[in-house]
Amino acid sequence: MSDTVYSKAKEFVTAVKDLIPAESFIPLHPPVFNGKEKEYLIETVDSTFVSSVGPFVDKVETQLASLTGCKKAVAVVNGTAALHTALKLAGVMRETEVITQSLTFIATANAISYLGALPVFLDVDLDTMGLSPSSVRAFLEEFGEIREDGCYNKSTGRRISACVPMHTFGFMTRIEELIRVCREYNIPVVEDAAEALGSSYRGKPAGSFGEISALSFNGNKVVTAGGGGAILTTNDELGSKAKHITTTAKVPHRWEYRHDEIGFNYRMPNVNAALLSAQLESLDDILKHKKQLFSAYVSSFEAMGLKLNQPPAESEWNYWLMSVELNSFEERNAFLEYTNSNGVMTRPIWELMHRMPMFEHCYKDDQKNSEYLEARIVNIPSNARV
Ligand SMILES: *Cc1c(COP(=O)(O)O)cnc(C)c1O
Repeated sequence: MSDTVYSKAKEFVTAVKDLIPAESFIPLHPPVFNGKEKEYLIETVDSTFVSSVGPFVDKVETQLASLTGCKKAVAVVNGTAALHTALKLAGVMRETEVITQSLTFIATANAISYLGALPVFLDVDLDTMGLSPSSVRAFLEEFGEIREDGCYNKSTGRRISACVPMHTFGFMTRIEELIRVCREYNIPVVEDAAEALGSSYRGKPAGSFGEISALSFNGNKVVTAGGGGAILTTNDELGSKAKHITTTAKVPHRWEYRHDEIGFNYRMPNVNAALLSAQLESLDDILKHKKQLFSAYVSSFEAMGLKLNQPPAESEWNYWLMSVELNSFEERNAFLEYTNSNGVMTRPIWELMHRMPMFEHCYKDDQKNSEYLEARIVNIPSNARV
């Protein structure tokens, strides 16, 4: 290990331990329960409505619609299920292609695959770490052909059924530009906003740009339901369909079991919604504390020459997952080794999707920025009261 990265990592560990009170190990993103979580959970158990119906499911759907400025939110079991449903409702079908980024969590590419569609991996912008509108434009100028029933890839003959930008670590992609390009080619945009609840772009909340979007409430996200997700849309018809197919496509009746299509059992249990409801009430407070931690990092990392990432000015960030940029792949590895051996959890950004055995046959562009970031970005502890 080079001396400079060793001393940088050592200073980093000391600084993080100073900032974050902990017995021993400092985790990456532990949930924080400082609101009415216990009260709502007890209420749920006392009522016996812990499962698929109950007032907290309706409550979180109202809370989420209002937080994101969307007409309709549908609470589901996890973010992957939300994406799967959103893509299906956007019209993604077997043997079509879906444009997305290679630099993402596996769930994005998995959800595309569940529908038998093929991901097309395009590069990200360096500063947003999200799908680059210029990569999308370059791809569509070369391969896109608008026909009566949508846009086709003229080299493969397959329809391009959707485009899925992902807001990496809560940084907003250049979402307005992406939507503009996709609209020219008649391609629906599905936002993977799993990491971005609380972020916004020029004042408009994450999840409200796409025709339909997905959120996640996994244990490591900005707020948690234990496990959970939500589908967001500003389109009433898509909203009703989302509710219908995530609740087994049952036709409402007082006692008959009749289902009018193949649906999913994706609804969020009331017990998870109880936890989430309390978390959503604390969202502002959680974001405020995350921002304080980030500010403390800014002052302490500057002195040690460690580059802390932040999004471009046009986006308001939820501070979900904070990250630093090391100078090389070797430095990144040395930094990960030292920090994880010395009580501070750090993790590399994801390995690119096109390297995974199940996606290595998929189309990808040059991936210059994605590869640059893959080799250098490390996530650092991001949730604490400081
Ligand atoms: C967390 C996450 C999801 C959804 O994950 P679940 O664990 O299924 O809730 C989807 N996409 C991205 C980018 C994520 O980070």
